[in-house]
Amino acid sequence: MRRLIVGNWKMNGLRGAEKEITRLGELLTPDDRKRADVVVCPPATLLGCLVEEAAAAGIELGGQNCHIRPSGAHTGEVSAEMLADAGAKWCIVGHSERRQDHGERSALVRAKAEAALRAGLTPIICVGEKPEDHEAGRAEAVVGSQIEVAMPNIGISGGRFVTAYEPIWAVGTGVVPRPSHIEAIHARIRKTVGPDTPILYGGSVKGKNAGGILSIPNVDGALIGGASLKAEDFHEIISARW
Ligand code: PEP
Repeated sequence: MRRLIVGNWKMNGLRGAEKEITRLGELLTPDDRKRADVVVCPPATLLGCLVEEAAAAGIELGGQNCHIRPSGAHTGEVSAEMLADAGAKWCIVGHSERRQDHGERSALVRAKAEAALRAGLTPIICVGEKPEDHEAGRAEAVVGSQIEVAMPNIGISGGRFVTAYEPIWAVGTGVVPRPSHIEAIHARIRKTVGPDTPILYGGSVKGKNAGGILSIPNVDGALIGGASLKAEDFHEIISARW
């Protein structure tokens, strides 16, 4: 089955980053393109700069967050409509860094996912347990309730959504959960989202572990932070065998 591989550049990248997109386009073989859809979510400031190179490389672009309103008196915010206008087709919502740094809760994440859908974007809804929940054996319960609350009403646009399971203790740490843990949590998410919603895994995915992770049942793709910044590293993940 085709996998969805999404890069999250977080707060990294200045003008000139076009060359990473162009390089990625050069690295992607026809076989890679057959086996995976590739999305890059740069900072909002770069979307407009990358549009042409991304189209030429056959890569879609996404935002990393959006406001729940389309416009208005919300200083410093970016709406889903603005992301779409700048060339995005996707939008990450509820990333653990947004939940931690900005106190975003799952009800707000759902509103953001619905705002993305209204703007014609496909939301990528992130869920994942904190280290203390993991240690206490509460991961399945915590993630289950996060996705139940954050799941959008897709009837509002006829669009679709994607989920990403990102255990907070695995994001940016180099620690990857046991395959049995990933399998159990993805099965729990599947119960809520149904058979047609892709479920990505995120958290310290690299070229050398990607093939194994992407072979786990109910893992339909991956959300990649650090290893998506350099075209060569990102391509190693996309071209992994699963
Ligand atoms: C992320 O930021 O979504 C992520 C998974 O980061 P990393 O790949 O660096 O762990």
